Amino acid sequence: MGAMSEMKQKEPITSRWDDQFAATLSEPELLLYRSNLLGSDLRITNFGGGNTSAKIMMTDPLSGEQVEVLWVKGSGGDLGSIKLDGFSTLYMDKLQALKNRYRGLEHEDEMVGYLPHCTFNLNPRAASIDTPLHAYIAKRHVDHMHPDACIAIAACRNSEALTGKIFEGQLGWLPWQRPGYDLGLKLEKVSRENPQLKGIILEGHGLFTWGDSAKEAYETTLAIIKRAEEWLQANIKQPVFGGQAVEALPAEERAALVARLMPLLRGKISKTEFKLGHFDDSDAVLEFVCSADLAPLAALGTSCPDHFLRTKIRPLVLDFDPAAPSFERLVEGLDAALDAYRTDYSAYYERCKRSTSPKIRDANPIIYLIPGVGMLSFAKDKATARIAGEFYVNAINVMRGANGVDSYVGLPEQEAFDIEYWLLEEAKLQRMPKPKSLAGKIALVTGGAGGIGQAVARQLLQEGACVMLTDIDGEALESAQVALAKVAGKDNVGTVRANITDEGEVAAILEAAALRFGGVDILVSNAGIASAAPLEETTLEIWKRNQDILVTGYFLASRSAFRIMKQQGLGGSMVFVGSKNGLVASSGASAYCTAKAAELHLARCVALEGAEHGIRVNVVNPDAVIRGSRIWDGKWKEERAASNKIDADDVEEFYRKRSMLKLSVFPEDIAEAVYFFASDKAGKSTGNILNVDAGNAGAFTR
Ligand SMILES: [Zn+2]
Repeated sequence: MGAMSEMKQKEPITSRWDDQFAATLSEPELLLYRSNLLGSDLRITNFGGGNTSAKIMMTDPLSGEQVEVLWVKGSGGDLGSIKLDGFSTLYMDKLQALKNRYRGLEHEDEMVGYLPHCTFNLNPRAASIDTPLHAYIAKRHVDHMHPDACIAIAACRNSEALTGKIFEGQLGWLPWQRPGYDLGLKLEKVSRENPQLKGIILEGHGLFTWGDSAKEAYETTLAIIKRAEEWLQANIKQPVFGGQAVEALPAEERAALVARLMPLLRGKISKTEFKLGHFDDSDAVLEFVCSADLAPLAALGTSCPDHFLRTKIRPLVLDFDPAAPSFERLVEGLDAALDAYRTDYSAYYERCKRSTSPKIRDANPIIYLIPGVGMLSFAKDKATARIAGEFYVNAINVMRGANGVDSYVGLPEQEAFDIEYWLLEEAKLQRMPKPKSLAGKIALVTGGAGGIGQAVARQLLQEGACVMLTDIDGEALESAQVALAKVAGKDNVGTVRANITDEGEVAAILEAAALRFGGVDILVSNAGIASAAPLEETTLEIWKRNQDILVTGYFLASRSAFRIMKQQGLGGSMVFVGSKNGLVASSGASAYCTAKAAELHLARCVALEGAEHGIRVNVVNPDAVIRGSRIWDGKWKEERAASNKIDADDVEEFYRKRSMLKLSVFPEDIAEAVYFFASDKAGKSTGNILNVDAGNAGAFTR
């Protein structure tokens, strides 16, 4: 771990404010500019965390008069990418009038219901729970950030004294309180009574800062965070986390272990909802999971509400000794560890629940820490799993800072529960759109860079799956990834270049899928070639090449996927992209037709063995999918044209006319059929064949 202990010196936080550019902006645009600058630096605030506001004079669309309007980041979204429509707008005079409605702390949740009545200009963006915090601070421009360095100070046992000492009277301090209406009133009081303050530290939570202009607010926020970072850097006692207790495994061993572990673990925690995994073994994580204080600190739970809403209050620390690494022992202990965690979580729910609390949610851990290896996070989709991991890294940074200068304190259990099971949070969850049909599923598509492969990947992504693409053509693979990531987001598309005929490389594909997403649920075996030659001119080389790619390739991919699906215990679906030629002999293509027929039979054999594990195997038979096909780009087209005695340019037309329905078949048509078999819609189908060939009587199955 040698190099790791000298943590990389971070670049200093510096102002990126551009006066010339700012001079061209209106007040709302200045707020947007400041928000994007702040939100795009993870040291300043975590993803989706924090909010900004400005109180701006605007023309009332009703009266035509100038009124004061609060622009404040609305519910949802992220400051780094927010646009003007991400802000709610509310009349300040109405927000002030709300004070007459306030009946006291035990009724503060009802104040949220009044906020829509304060909406300015029919803005549909819902106001967030933090709106009163911004509204009542007696300053025009207000930032609320969750910087690790400030939360670290906020999470110290002696947070108040440290705040005074570090910021020399520039910042006020308020004890922990759940964000809401009442906290808004407290912030108002402190900011009014202490006009010299530049902001406030909220215990166990984060930072408020403000200014008379957008630029002043922005630069004050940066200066305060910079001060906190520098002070911590200078004062953290070494070694952090009680020093290193174990040596990290080498990087490739960490990855290999996690690739084996993820599908097993995923299977155990996905019984009611499929989950996706994320692995992180960055320096900050390794320092923590190799440290002496790992277990006691992990048990204290996270502090900032933003953190534990994403990570649950506590992670699960797995029992693993990197000095005597035993995968078998790690796996043996898994059930008991998960059981203990779930029991503990249920007990926490029972201890803390109130008569109005929502029902207990999934009791499985979200964050898994493995000594010497790193951190896994699991959630209902890949981005959420990744972000949960990032939030736990924030929590690690907070513990590092707080414990380095004082002693770290987590939130009191009841407070944490009241936030986790807050009715307002529950309402947010209830408002989420229904999950898509393949949500939480992981699909592997071979031949993923080709026309059919990409169309299939696109459809599976649109239905909510994550997709691992593999292809032998690395360049084509890269451009396929770029195109698909545009549609479905970078998180959801992975690639691995591999030769499907090589046993070791196929195993590596599945390992890559496990490491990146946590396993595999859907295999679309699609990698293909085609060749045509009369029997006498079919060389042994042509014959073997067809066998290698179409038969051995399908065998290797299905065998590897089968093993992982079986380990997960969550069933699975394999879809072989076959060909009409698997059913119908075609003259001058014996090598290709025979190999395609073998694929078909392989599918049936795997279907037979897979049934008891809930693994379904079906075949989609395309015919003459010419558009977008790399197979049809080259010699094959000429060979088929010659064999049918037509011009190569007329091939598409020829096949269309030959079909019973007189239609061309496109990659999207194949994708539709593959999706059907891949999804639960075909949950009772296995060993089947679906022809997508615009009708060909010779291929009718019987
Ligand atoms: Zn906050």
